[in-house]
Order: sequence, then structure tokens, then C-alpha cells
Amino acid sequence: MKIRPRSPNFSDRPGERTGEEADALRTKFPEYAKHGSKFDRAIDTVLAGGVKESVFLPSGRKVITVVGRLGDEFINPGKPYCSCSNFFFSVLGGREETCYHLLSYRMAVETGKLDVVKFSDEEYGAYLTATVRDVFEVLRRSTS
Ligand SMILES: [Zn+2]
Repeated sequence: MKIRPRSPNFSDRPGERTGEEADALRTKFPEYAKHGSKFDRAIDTVLAGGVKESVFLPSGRKVITVVGRLGDEFINPGKPYCSCSNFFFSVLGGREETCYHLLSYRMAVETGKLDVVKFSDEEYGAYLTATVRDVFEVLRRSTS
């Protein structure tokens, strides 16, 4: 069973995606330009379809993940919260305003590029197991 479809065209060279789509996003969100390289990464992530909202039915439970440069991260835009180490160290530490995953989510929502994937409630356990494993793997790689 393929639990979480991935985007086949995700660039591993963030910020290097060019062209009309990227320019359109830069123009649409001038207020995010202050985030510098995070903004470029967010544009890359949004265009690659990396912002995913997994909806479990019939409960309607939602999990939002962002497939970033290193792998999946859980985000909770309402709090806000992100499982990445940048959020943990720099955002919670008060040095930075946001991480690029949360920035990606905001841009994806506003441009209708949020990738909504529906699952049945029975798949929730397998989904969480797979995603948590990814998040741990990312954490392990980013802190080693
Ligand atoms: Zn993050």
C-alpha cells in the first residue's frame, strides 16, 4: 500500500527553481521576501506540491505535512508548530520568526496549491507510523 504519494519533481536544489511560476509567487508574496533563502525554499516546496493535508474519513481528522529538503515534517499552522530542528532551535528560541515549512503552508493555502489527500480512518495508524518514522529520520540526519 502506498500510503503517502510523493511528488516526483521535488527539487533537491532549493532556490534554483526559476520560471514564471516561481516569479509569480515572488510577486504575490512580497512581504515574505525578508525571509531570504527560506522564501526561496518555500517557493520550491509549494511548486513541487510538497504541502499536504491528509484528511481521514469519516472522522475528518487532519494531519498537515510538508515534504521538505530533508524529508517530511509535521506542522500545525494554528499553534504554530513545526517538527523541524530549525523551528525548535531558532523559532522557539526567539531568533527567527518562522521556518520555511510554515511559510510554505501559508503560500500553498493562499495560492490553492495545498495537496489534499483523503484516507480512511483505518489507515490513520499506518500513516502516522510511516510519517513519524520519516520525521525521526530527518531529525537524526539534521542533528548528526
Ligand atoms: Zn519547519
